[in-house]
Amino acid sequence: MSAEPDGPEDRLRRFATIWSRAVYPVTSTSSTRPEFEERLLPLARRLSEALRARSFDADAGRTAGAALVEAHCTDPEALSRTLDCVDAYLVLYCGGDGDREDLRARSARLQHAMAAGFARALRERTLAEQEAIAQAALEAQGVVAQALHATEARFRAVFEGAAIGIGIADLEGNVLQVNGALRRMFGLSEQGLRGRNVRDWVHPDDAPQTWRLYDELVSGEREHYHLEKAFHRPDGTVLWTNLTVSLLRDPDGEPQYQLALMEDTTERRLLNLRLRYEATHDALTGLPNRTFFFERLEKALGAGEGQRFGLCYLDLDGFKTVNDSLGHAAGDRLLVEVADRLQACATAPGEMVARLGGDEFVALTTGSDTERTVDELAARIMNALLAPISVDGRELTVRGSIGIVEGPAGERSAAEVLRSADITMYRAKSAGGNRFELADPEADARAITRHGLTTALPTALDRGEFFIEYQPLVHLGDGSVRGAEALVRWLHPQHGVLSPDRFIPLAEHTGLIVPLGRWVLEQSVRQAREWRDRHGGEALGPLRINVNLSPCQLTHPGLVQDTVDILERTGVAPEALCLEVTESALIGADDDLLKPLRRLAEMGVDIALDDFGTGYSNLANLRRLPVSVLKLDRSFTQSMQQFPADPVDLKIVEGIVSLAHSLDLAVTVEGVETGAQAEQLRILGCDTAQGWYYARPGPPDRLHELALVDATG
Ligand code: C2E
Ligand code: MG
Ligand code: MG
Repeated sequence: MSAEPDGPEDRLRRFATIWSRAVYPVTSTSSTRPEFEERLLPLARRLSEALRARSFDADAGRTAGAALVEAHCTDPEALSRTLDCVDAYLVLYCGGDGDREDLRARSARLQHAMAAGFARALRERTLAEQEAIAQAALEAQGVVAQALHATEARFRAVFEGAAIGIGIADLEGNVLQVNGALRRMFGLSEQGLRGRNVRDWVHPDDAPQTWRLYDELVSGEREHYHLEKAFHRPDGTVLWTNLTVSLLRDPDGEPQYQLALMEDTTERRLLNLRLRYEATHDALTGLPNRTFFFERLEKALGAGEGQRFGLCYLDLDGFKTVNDSLGHAAGDRLLVEVADRLQACATAPGEMVARLGGDEFVALTTGSDTERTVDELAARIMNALLAPISVDGRELTVRGSIGIVEGPAGERSAAEVLRSADITMYRAKSAGGNRFELADPEADARAITRHGLTTALPTALDRGEFFIEYQPLVHLGDGSVRGAEALVRWLHPQHGVLSPDRFIPLAEHTGLIVPLGRWVLEQSVRQAREWRDRHGGEALGPLRINVNLSPCQLTHPGLVQDTVDILERTGVAPEALCLEVTESALIGADDDLLKPLRRLAEMGVDIALDDFGTGYSNLANLRRLPVSVLKLDRSFTQSMQQFPADPVDLKIVEGIVSLAHSLDLAVTVEGVETGAQAEQLRILGCDTAQGWYYARPGPPDRLHELALVDATG
């Protein structure tokens, strides 16, 4: 045995071996298992390539599925074992070092394609077989004219041995003869079938033309027909078949018998149903998915005169926080519960609920009275979300924003309706969330769509459309300006100045956040240097600069090096820089994620835990994080707005401050809007503050003026 580690070729071979071992026992091939494995190897190679190819190509899957049929793996069990095997081993042996989640998603798509390719090839093959048999029967019949009895034996052998069900009946429909395959399909004996009448086999699922075609055939107007037909079995189950019926004529050309050939498609049908279900339903919640929803919406929009539709587009508020701080498993459980509750809201005929992806759901109502029903539907949904959801022993409060679109059928396309609903939902979210809003065509036209912004983002950085505002950080003890937080803005050519909430999530989604974040860091560190040059030498030390880091930047391998380079280029000391990371990104972070922050902290860069108190963090966890500053979220300050402040809130803040100090963390508070709040927070022991009371975010010079004022005055 070699001690060399396996190369990709060995791993591919191993996958083919496993595959062939799984499937070989259920094939009807005449080759040996090793020969069979050789046949699978090129298929395995194509799958493996498709798994890792730059752009996904479902053809590899379809070809592999079809090749299985060619290799005599026609038993549905062969497909099922193949899919299991691909599911369990393809990524493992052939995934290379690609991203596991991408690979798994691709593997699932390949499996779909394989099943589709398999089903199609099997069907084509069966049709070809049926035709050959029908031809043979007709030919045999031609010969019958001369030597019926001589060919009888041969015909019987074909008849009995055929893998396909064959039955012969007279023109009145009385069954005369059936072969073994047909008896097995029905689970009946020869006696049980012979003498039955074809017309007894009416089934509720019969296609509308079924019996018309039959009548045309037995009356000699048609030579054959082909359709899918269901039969009742005596045990109560349903047999689905591909049925071909041909008319047999006597030597004078007069109709004499009917010949039925049937192939049992019950299992394939089940498989197809399952595939259809999987393609149209969301795996996590079991709700209809985007594809299915689009079909239904299109149908509703195509309904006739007087018909209307109403749509609620729901996005959960703050779901990302749950996902980031409690983990994806908890997020998933929350979504499942939300899905269940939503489903219970739309049970009337013409109503449906679907999951579009992530935390976005839609509910649809149709009929003539949707102006009323859609409002009720939205109210039911809001109501259904009221009760907290219990996940891992925590009671989570779930809120949502809903955009409602209602209107007559036949005016707009599904895409237009969904776009309008999406815009309206965002309007509800911008208004604070936890509400529903009604679509308004004028607002739609003005709306800044996510799509529009996303496509404009990449060029915005090159075109210099971003700029930074600075908001001072003030020492609560003596009121001096100690530094500033850099807050990025986008001066959009059409929409004017956009706040980071509008575009940071999009930049995170598209990956642009990395170059954008680097740009913000570089600009603001340069700015800090300029302040130092102009302001330098004050007793209080240099003005410090706080820069926000998005969670995506944490996982970017260049973070530490970029930061070091920028600090060196500008000649700014690491101690003058503080990186703010949102609480939810750090809670539950593993050591790998914390490593770059730890390196930066060791160099002297401060790390602040931003938005503290909005996630579901465990205070005890703070100890293991490389942070030196807690930034209390604005919500704490807000609760101090009324006078007297809620004593419980005060106690909470006091507790957090004393815990932070005992861990050697400084406490900064955000959103200080009044002098009373500032005083209250000072008494509670907070160190620095930031907010409109001192200054709104503004151009860099403003800060310089402020700092000078309090240094001199
Ligand atoms: P943040 O880091 O929590 O920033 C504080 C936000 O509170 C800022 O909103 C600021 O303008 C606002 N604010 C300050 N004082 C007051 C006040 O007294 N009252 C009220 N109501 N609000 C106040 P802004 O500028 O819209 O930024 C929103 C968020 O966008 C930031 O929250 C930060 O998470 C993110 N962000 C901003 N710039 C960047 C950036 O360069 N990179 C990344 N990754 N994120 C950024
Ligand atoms: Mg911040
Ligand atoms: Mg903050």
